[in-house]
Amino acid sequence: MKIDKVDKNSPEMTGFIRWHSDAAEKIYNLAFNDLLFRAHSVHRAHFDPNAVQMSRLLSIKTGGCAEDCGYCSQSAHAPTGLKASKLMEVERVLEEARKAKAGGATRYCMGAAWRSPKDRDMEAVLAMVRGVRSLGLETCMTLGMLTPAQSDALAQAGLDYYNHNLDTSERFYGEIITTRTFADRLETLANVRDAGLKVCAGGILGMGETTDDRISMLVTLANLPVPPESVPINMLIPIPGSKLADAPPVDPIEFIRSIALARILMPASHVRLSAGRTEMSDEMQALCFFAGANSIFVGETLLTAGNPGEDKDAALFRRLGLTPMQPDVGA
Ligand code: SF4
Repeated sequence: MKIDKVDKNSPEMTGFIRWHSDAAEKIYNLAFNDLLFRAHSVHRAHFDPNAVQMSRLLSIKTGGCAEDCGYCSQSAHAPTGLKASKLMEVERVLEEARKAKAGGATRYCMGAAWRSPKDRDMEAVLAMVRGVRSLGLETCMTLGMLTPAQSDALAQAGLDYYNHNLDTSERFYGEIITTRTFADRLETLANVRDAGLKVCAGGILGMGETTDDRISMLVTLANLPVPPESVPINMLIPIPGSKLADAPPVDPIEFIRSIALARILMPASHVRLSAGRTEMSDEMQALCFFAGANSIFVGETLLTAGNPGEDKDAALFRRLGLTPMQPDVGA
């Protein structure tokens, strides 16, 4: 297929459509320049191409998780050597959030290594949401599976986003996680959406999945009743002691193709270049931004993994002429 210009009336330029895997596969396999041109055109039609949303992630409860996600350092099932900690004090979370805001973050993401939150933890978690929001930051949480009642409580406290990644395709899911199902994931996403929260859901590349699995995961996300507002695409950071410790690295071109496909399938979503940026060159990140990524995590750690520091990101932004995107919430 040859692409000289992008049809401004095509579905991805005008709004949401339901995607079929065959159509997505054809797009994924376009000549690289054609794919990038199409993805970048979609990106420009929906966003300022030089603005990047900046999130900061804090682990509010680390390690000892009952789930067996093969990619994770925090699973109690894997001998990764990570020490488990209790839920952080609310005031400490707010202290960290103030620092994040001073460092330029506009969204504050709080993650707890739980299968699902216990009722006894909800009071503290809700206080964190209220406190962080009162600082004028967008709030996001990732706490595992949620019931409708927990989703409602978080929405009422002012939570903006709930993160719950699909991780991979339905077909490949059981190879990576056995303690819950793909359907469980979709159920929490539905609970969160029904509560009126914005959804952050994406996945991880480099876990041994096929290209079809990657495409299938993106098609599932795009075909949710409302596509996620935020789509984190992670590159696996192999964790010593985890099931995926020896997973081979993802081909950078394949990774960029996946970002481009995410942009085309979900034109109005923020596509986040998430974990794995420490392993990416500036040039690879630049191509990801061109292909439609417009969100990153800032700060030196991501839950338990490394991340480029603020100085490195500031230098990259200067080189590329990128600017931080303004948040949606008032102070
Ligand atoms: S990814 Fe989340 S749910 Fe899975 S083991 Fe790690 S902390 Fe637990």
